Amino acid sequence: MSSNVETVPINEELISDTLKHGIKKDAVYIREVLAKALELKGLNEIEVASLSSISDPVLLKELFDTARKVKEEIYGKRLVLFAPLYVSNLCKNECLYCAFRRSNTMVRRKSLTQEEVCKEVETLVDQGHKRILLVAGESYPSEGFDYIIKCVETIYSVKKGRGEIRRVNVNVAPLSLEEFKRLKSAKIGTYQLFQETYHRETYQKVHIGGLKKDFDWRITAMDRAMKAGIDDVGVGILFGLFDWRFEILALMQHIHHLEETFGVGPHTISVPRLEPACGSDLSTHPPYAVSDIDFRKIVALLRLAVPYTGIIMSTRETPNIRRETFALGVSQISAGSRTNPGGYTGNEEEDMSQFSLGDHRSLDEVIQDITQLGYIPSFCTACYRLGRTGADFMDLAKPGLIKNHCEVNALSTFAEYLEDYASLETKRLGWVKIEEIINSMPENRRTRTEKMLSRVKSGERDVYV
Ligand code: SAM
Ligand code: SF4
Repeated sequence: MSSNVETVPINEELISDTLKHGIKKDAVYIREVLAKALELKGLNEIEVASLSSISDPVLLKELFDTARKVKEEIYGKRLVLFAPLYVSNLCKNECLYCAFRRSNTMVRRKSLTQEEVCKEVETLVDQGHKRILLVAGESYPSEGFDYIIKCVETIYSVKKGRGEIRRVNVNVAPLSLEEFKRLKSAKIGTYQLFQETYHRETYQKVHIGGLKKDFDWRITAMDRAMKAGIDDVGVGILFGLFDWRFEILALMQHIHHLEETFGVGPHTISVPRLEPACGSDLSTHPPYAVSDIDFRKIVALLRLAVPYTGIIMSTRETPNIRRETFALGVSQISAGSRTNPGGYTGNEEEDMSQFSLGDHRSLDEVIQDITQLGYIPSFCTACYRLGRTGADFMDLAKPGLIKNHCEVNALSTFAEYLEDYASLETKRLGWVKIEEIINSMPENRRTRTEKMLSRVKSGERDVYV
């Protein structure tokens, strides 16, 4: 595999043809596909396209029920939590949907100094966060790309009380092979990048300036990242720019390309929907707005199509939509987020934000809510630190083994949160939930978990298997 792959072939004709002529709507076929999805081996494009066309309420319920079963089978009740950290809103690009685009004079520009990054991280650590997603526009202060590397190092260097950040994921513009190697050396977790839209014509219309105009440079970024040794990559689509059915099938082609080339697909898929951004008409009037019901379908379809790939949902969505989609397939969520540089320390104002949020609750409120909904909030970072990444992670995940590791690690990190950061009510509810889960475990797992939890209770931190 050459690192300078020129593009990732997205066969638009095939997708259009599948959507026009390939969809099978009869209930017998749909039920066969749902039964196949329960085998946890994923689905092909025709099957996904057929499921995307479901409108009958009975079949729709069956689709959602199947997604719930698959989610439960692979991920159990865990929900992994993280916080985005916007370090800079400087940008040379002209993405018509984003407040950070170069010509937007309504946004005040700011790059955090390393001291400011440190303060933001201390605030997040004090809230209980262990995982950060570093985000930046596509323009760096005078030191260039070194700035991002320094930010990653600063984040890992912060120790506050009993806490620290244990995994830094990164969402920055496409990099060269050499730059990806530097990110890898800085020990990042996942490199995340959204193609925004896989529809070339739409892509050209909404990216009108700067490097981001180059569709091929962007779509080949994951090849360069993986070639540089970054095993965990996260893909995504900005829903609302083009027909979501087309986007899902194109995403599947991208995933197959990575699987064929590197033996493993993406670690995560993000599913942002366009949110109003200051100074952007496109974001307030999305050309292909995705309804709430279609959004739930998207999450369910992805869960069935690529069952072992994590699905990430941000605070762009409202608490209600988030609650509904946890059960359908979402495995990671952000909480207590700010999308303006300096937003956590509170010294900076919202006129530097990227877009408006749908969920404004604090981390503690989100944790209390998801605990009451029956989920286990997890801050686990064990796999990445034990080298269980990329194909190794998938090899473990596929026979269902990961569930055994993940559940106990989730409980251990949840217990840390309850002991060190939770409000009294969250602490009370959390320990009740932990007891309930332990009591439902098979004997040997229960004993192992109880041992880990008693180490956490007696003050030991970062206990994982
Ligand atoms: N600048 C880099 C880039 O464009 O890839 C990385 C950071 S950018 C801030 C992260 C993501 O924010 C983009 O990939 C895009 O999908 C998303 N985004 C931009 N404007 C948005 C909006 N109005 N609503 C929701 N998401 C948006
Ligand atoms: Fe810049 Fe990224 Fe926003 Fe585009 S989406 S304007 S590249 S920050």
